Amino acid sequence: MLQFDDESTLSMPTPQPMRPTPSVAPVQVPASQPAASARRVSADDKRVINGQTDVNQLVPFKYEWAWKKYLDACANHWMPQEIQMSRDIALWKDPNGLTEDERRVVKRNLGFFVTADSLAANNIVLGTYRHITAPECRQYLLRQAFEEAIHTHAYQYIVESLGLDESEVFNAYHEIASIRDKDEFLIPFIDTLTNPEFRTGTPENDQKLLKSLIVFACIMEGLFFYVGFTQILALGRQNKMTGAAEQYQYILRDESMHCNFGIDLINTVKAENPHLWTPAFRDEIRALMSRAVELEYRYAEDTMPRGVLGLNAPMFKEYLRYIANRRCQQIGLDALFPGATNPFPWMSEMIDLKKERNFFETRVIEYQTGGALSWD
Ligand code: FE
Repeated sequence: MLQFDDESTLSMPTPQPMRPTPSVAPVQVPASQPAASARRVSADDKRVINGQTDVNQLVPFKYEWAWKKYLDACANHWMPQEIQMSRDIALWKDPNGLTEDERRVVKRNLGFFVTADSLAANNIVLGTYRHITAPECRQYLLRQAFEEAIHTHAYQYIVESLGLDESEVFNAYHEIASIRDKDEFLIPFIDTLTNPEFRTGTPENDQKLLKSLIVFACIMEGLFFYVGFTQILALGRQNKMTGAAEQYQYILRDESMHCNFGIDLINTVKAENPHLWTPAFRDEIRALMSRAVELEYRYAEDTMPRGVLGLNAPMFKEYLRYIANRRCQQIGLDALFPGATNPFPWMSEMIDLKKERNFFETRVIEYQTGGALSWD
């Protein structure tokens, strides 16, 4: 049986050697200016949070997994306007091109995603970034932030191409309950990290940071995107909205890497700070995960009041449980829904573009930027 999303991702990081927790006062976020008397950085002294080394010095590497993901992400570069939308536009304008239920799926989908990646970008740039003290991880986060911008660009490009009511689509996160509820679940965790007064360096605050990292990687990017991705890719598999589907395929590939980077980051924070992973904390994470499955299932029901495209909401109940189990296991928690299986094994192939690049064959430019140059 196919793995859910392992094939396009990297293995778990080698656990970093345990180091004693420094008994220091709450750590200030390192300034961008090194002290005049700064000594040379040793990889051994680097820490993903509360580090005391110069954040401007990428090398010597300690977190090679983060640097590798940065290189892989750059190699996957793409831009929305490279993808032809003419077939999608013709189909959307044809009164018999799509059913009302299919149109609802597209509009609800865009309603969620046009703001979701802006939330993700703001969370990185204004929150996560300044609390992470490993320059390798910051380097990846800079790339990730740009990818979130590309995703927002892609959704806007689809909305504009189809001539949708922009005000309706961009306000869906206020006006559509199933979308608003997901965003309202996330916002307190963004607020924690973006609060200018928030500092890591105490067990309580370090747990808050870790919780926000888990909510973002495992729930937002790792769960809340999957009903929507599956729906649009199912349209594409039926040769409908193939331009949009191809964009979603590239976005899915990026998001899968964001999720896996986040999981590596979480596991490294855990390895370096084992005192944060208390039984009470683990219970809290499991409760959040189960609430998230409920919210995403409600979104599935709202977007698919009837069966559409060979999909229906109950199939997603199983899929979301399967994904939630996997996210739990990836960060070292027991499965929440033992025995859940994957009803959409084809999604694994979609995630792994190396198998079949340009699945929907609408892209006008084909390039792989990384490793393309050879000086031999
Ligand atoms: Fe993302």
